[in-house]
Amino acid sequence: MQTPYFLIDSEKIEKNLKVLRGVMDRTGSKILLAQKCFSCYALYPLVGKYLAGATASGIFEAQLCHEEMMGKENHIFSPAFREQDIDAILSICDHIVFNSPAQLLRYGERAKKAGLQVGIRVNPECSTQEGHAIYDPCSPGSRLGTKEVHLREYLHDCKEKGVSPCLDGIHFHTLCEQNSDDLETTLNAIEEKFGDILHEMKWINFGGGHHITRADYDLDRLERCIKRMQERYSLAVYLEPGEAVALNAGTLHATVLEVLPKGDDGVSNVILDTSAACHMPDVIEMPYTPPVLHPTLAEEGEDGFRYRFGGPTCLSGDVIGEYTFKEKLSEGDEIVFGDMAIYSMVKTNTFNGMPLPDIYISKEGISSLWKHFSYSDFKARV
Ligand SMILES: *Cc1c(COP(=O)(O)O)cnc(C)c1O
Repeated sequence: MQTPYFLIDSEKIEKNLKVLRGVMDRTGSKILLAQKCFSCYALYPLVGKYLAGATASGIFEAQLCHEEMMGKENHIFSPAFREQDIDAILSICDHIVFNSPAQLLRYGERAKKAGLQVGIRVNPECSTQEGHAIYDPCSPGSRLGTKEVHLREYLHDCKEKGVSPCLDGIHFHTLCEQNSDDLETTLNAIEEKFGDILHEMKWINFGGGHHITRADYDLDRLERCIKRMQERYSLAVYLEPGEAVALNAGTLHATVLEVLPKGDDGVSNVILDTSAACHMPDVIEMPYTPPVLHPTLAEEGEDGFRYRFGGPTCLSGDVIGEYTFKEKLSEGDEIVFGDMAIYSMVKTNTFNGMPLPDIYISKEGISSLWKHFSYSDFKARV
């Protein structure tokens, strides 16, 4: 196995899926995979065994679900749909969520005629996350979701004209890596702003950002939240997590190409054959420091060997993070980054002509190559 490569552990995915399935079974809710986080379609049959289906951010992901998760629910949301895509979308999806009354007016009736369930994404104007404005759809100036005043205007206009609002459901997505206390806070805002409208709906979609498979996640509170919407408004409840499906289920393996001499700050730069900018852009975008699972890190307070990992690209900011190890590193050592199944493979790029990591899938201790990338993948895209 040549580095860099991703290794997806299908047993760990299945373990997550069992937790999600437990929530579905205990509450009667439906959980969908948000494909934008994890599109490893080799495992879609496994995902389809446990979950109700998948959700897409656009026509390509919808097509992927249609082809690879046959017979399961196929939902789609986009901030704006294109005329040239809509017929194909309506022929393969069963739920479509619009971002605005204008999109609903443009496509809603066609979607209903094609037999789809139609929803609108709302903005409850309730921020529950700090510091990550780029992941907060309730941040000021957000383009995501319809605010209460605009939804009410739309519903009022429909009534005046005596036309159907073409609405079956309400969708919101405001969380990111959060626990169910923040979901509860958000539901309070949803009820306060949209409670009377919910009575007219068939379903509500809680979006993603629920870290359901994390060890400290409060499942009981989540299930109380689901039951509250089912009982108060007779709604079917959907959730569409991405991260929770593939949390801690994959690794990225890299090799040390060079250890540079210690700098003025006492830290040695290490060049790896992987790159934050190309293989894990969230490290720079979010930003965060990915965990290293191998070699062994020094204990808290223990002296060790401190290194700054960087990629072989032109970007001085292509830094993965700083780590202190028990042992000295040298050329040829393997480095294993953890939690690399989510928002990694779906975000890779070939900037600087960087080779894309191959993708392996492990099952019962055997790792099999699923995708190999080469020069032709780079050439096809530039
Ligand atoms: C990103 C996103 C999700 C999935 O979010 P996770 O944080 O991966 O759980 C679900 N729904 C919508 C609309 C999204 O934008």
